[in-house]
Amino acid sequence: MRTNSARIYLDYAASAPVSAEVAEAMRAAGEDAGFNPSSLHAEGRRARALLDAARDAVAASLGARRSEITFTGSGTEANHLALTGVVRALGWKGHVVASAVEHHAVLRATDELREIGCEVTIVPVDRDGRVDPEQFSAALRDDTVIASVMYANNEIGTVQPVEELAAIARARGVVFHSDAVQAAAWLPLDTATLGVDLLSLSAHKLHGPKGAGVLFVRTGTPIAAAVPGGGQEFGRRSGTENLAGIAGTAAALKRAAEGRVANSPRVTSLRERLEAGLAASIPGVRINGSGAARLPSIVSATFPGVDSESLLARLDLAGVAVSAGSACTSGALEPSHVLSALGTGTSDATIRFSLGVPTTLEEIDRVTAMLPPIVASLRRTSPAPA
Ligand code: PLP
Repeated sequence: MRTNSARIYLDYAASAPVSAEVAEAMRAAGEDAGFNPSSLHAEGRRARALLDAARDAVAASLGARRSEITFTGSGTEANHLALTGVVRALGWKGHVVASAVEHHAVLRATDELREIGCEVTIVPVDRDGRVDPEQFSAALRDDTVIASVMYANNEIGTVQPVEELAAIARARGVVFHSDAVQAAAWLPLDTATLGVDLLSLSAHKLHGPKGAGVLFVRTGTPIAAAVPGGGQEFGRRSGTENLAGIAGTAAALKRAAEGRVANSPRVTSLRERLEAGLAASIPGVRINGSGAARLPSIVSATFPGVDSESLLARLDLAGVAVSAGSACTSGALEPSHVLSALGTGTSDATIRFSLGVPTTLEEIDRVTAMLPPIVASLRRTSPAPA
């Protein structure tokens, strides 16, 4: 991974640059990745062996079987395949449940399902972004076909009680999907323990390549093809496979799994240091979701009396890369549906600092020292302090 040491990158939740190990795995896949795994000749068989090995590695990281791993073109696509694939398999009808803080990839899929006649219930969250299992249970109906609650939130880092929610859904015969795109770097991913039927991942949040995702599909889960065609990916997602991307995905997930036990506590302590530093030096700062279990990596801080765009720009000029809430809509500063769901939607600046495995104590201390004068100067010049 190439970094500019003068700059501090704290936007790993937007994308974690490809690591040297992943780049090497993709390079090593090299020549074989150039052939078609569906071809019957020797070259095709080499490509097939590469694909199978990557699928086995991903399956091992998730405690799954090879046939339960579908490679997709992104986390977004995995989420879309999960929701629309199940509803399509069950006849394009039924009731769908999702939480209010899901990523747009899930929420837009539920919009699409609503348009084709499904009923959708959006389960609210508490002020820290948590889904209450009782409210979740109450939202399920006899005609509910799928429920989707993310493992951890991309804007504020709140971790949901996925095991408990999955068990509730299972007891009611409802397919349970979880978007684990942000959780995958930090939290256990054993699909048997989690009890999920479907789980989405994205390689580029794990120092893997962009344009590469995974959908775990538990054996027996009804799911129809998202992209019909040549029948690749067990018929769920046709199209000649992105072999280099898939090799990179397998390497990224393997490394994340191997490093998780050491990395999660270390990065949690950096997150806590940043939060404590902000609280001690900036009057009025609020840490969103602070009452809930959160990812080691995400600090969502609201700075009253300052606007997001100015704060982002000042931090960027000072050499710090962060985002405002979530950066998924082409960098646009739209009001965050997640903060609105928490009841803390505000015009005050909310900045997401997202830490990564490469983040250092020195970087955290530099950012903590740099913020108070920037916030103070913006507050002095702000036209309408809150
Ligand atoms: N789900 C969550 C929780 C995310 O944070 C993101 C990306 O930010 C996605 C899904 C989409 O993943 P991708 O960028 O691979 O489409």
